[in-house]
Amino acid sequence: GVTIGILALQGAFAEHQTTLKKLSFERKISVVQVRTPEDLARCAALIIPGGESTTIALLAKLAGLLEPLRAFLKEKSVWGTCAGAILLAQSVEGAKKGGQELLGGISVTIARNGWGSQVESFEAPLQVQGLRDSDRPFTGVFIRAPVVLSLVPSALDPPIQVVARLPVDLLPRSDHTSSIAPDDPRTVVALRQGRHLLTTFHPELTKDSRFHEYFVRECVLPYAA
Ligand code: GLN
Repeated sequence: GVTIGILALQGAFAEHQTTLKKLSFERKISVVQVRTPEDLARCAALIIPGGESTTIALLAKLAGLLEPLRAFLKEKSVWGTCAGAILLAQSVEGAKKGGQELLGGISVTIARNGWGSQVESFEAPLQVQGLRDSDRPFTGVFIRAPVVLSLVPSALDPPIQVVARLPVDLLPRSDHTSSIAPDDPRTVVALRQGRHLLTTFHPELTKDSRFHEYFVRECVLPYAA
């Protein structure tokens, strides 16, 4: 079987575990919480949950996990949701030098709390490419969510595949989103690059387990020998 880890330092890690356990991959996957480099070493894939990205990064540093996580990303599948998505970004707009440790791994630039401080949270129905039963929209739960500002893959990086966008008529108004085109990178709320997955919303906070099924089916099992 394949062991999927959930980084369990802070944030919505328990909800990811609950959702993964509902999937019918039961005999193929087992799920563990990751708090140490030894926990991580057992995993074939990892989920980094939503929460507070600066706190998760600080706790990862204290646990001696920053370098093991960076090495893990080079070889294994990782899915970051919300704060986890921020940690996977190549750079974060406005982050002070040395102020926020990132893991990198996905060639995007991102803005924290990018929908503006008035917009604490919102929900939107999303059309998701490749999701099982994809005619049925997936409810995106956005909580102080980051915004993808640009896709910046170099020629050597795997291409980026957009998995879901927010329809422009549903975009909350903010400095980052006034008058933007439907294909603007800032409408991208789920994307894949190689074996990695990034969502700016929280699939683990809905009862719908299709996004977790997608991650296991598309990003984990095909790469697990
Ligand atoms: N705003 C948080 C951060 O910057 C992310 C919010 C979330 O994960 N729900 O880390």
